[in-house]
Amino acid sequence: MDILGTRIDLLNLQESMSRIFRAVASGKKLWIVTANPELIYRGAKDKKLQATISSADFILPDGIGVVWAAHLFGAEKVERVTGIDLTLKILEEGQQHRWRIFLLGSKPEIVKKAVYNLRQKYPAIDFAYHHGYFSPEEEPAVLEKIERFAPHILLVGLGAPKQEYWNAAYKGSAQIRMGVGGTIDVLSGEVKRAPQFFRAHNLEWLYRLVSQPARIRRQIVLPLYVCKVLKQRYFS
Ligand code: UDP
Repeated sequence: MDILGTRIDLLNLQESMSRIFRAVASGKKLWIVTANPELIYRGAKDKKLQATISSADFILPDGIGVVWAAHLFGAEKVERVTGIDLTLKILEEGQQHRWRIFLLGSKPEIVKKAVYNLRQKYPAIDFAYHHGYFSPEEEPAVLEKIERFAPHILLVGLGAPKQEYWNAAYKGSAQIRMGVGGTIDVLSGEVKRAPQFFRAHNLEWLYRLVSQPARIRRQIVLPLYVCKVLKQRYFS
């Protein structure tokens, strides 16, 4: 499926998790992008970004705006696969199979807190981490830390599109590389996920807008995305 020039792979959460599990078991490498409307819209404007993302192994539909567009283009069964939901599945699986998981991103005290929480909850997983505010000069040392740890899973929470460029550049750093946006903030408990009511009614974007009004500048892109999708569907 193509949405504004970005390929979207219509896998659901369970299918995505099975592919990840099989890749880890067979020693294959995977790069996963969870694409929300902001990223897709940005890609439509920035061909370099779009081309970069297109070499990911899976580009998953993250957000109700992507599910809506996929339906509009004729897909029947489409489920949202968000970075946080897939991360939680990975953690469950990692606990059973004693995976090594590296968290890259977020502020120093926040990623530390996230890993502290995760170690309590998933004691069988071997965790390592680094915050996401390093300079270009520090980048080789960060990469070396990851490569030495040789993670099964690398969760990159540097925000889009920084995390996508990181994952595109450093193919060898982990078996599974996935951009997770603000997931590390949620795992730390510092940022709350939308309550079940908002999630069940596909209103996470509204919850985020109300709880973090500073994000309005980013969300302004959503109506633009809707217009562009309608244009692709009905006028091209
Ligand atoms: N971040 C980071 N390094 C940076 C810029 C951002 O580690 O140079 C982190 C930031 O602290 C936050 C995440 O990236 O944890 C981005 O979160 P956001 O909710 O904005 O994610 P998105 O909506 O872009 O997926």
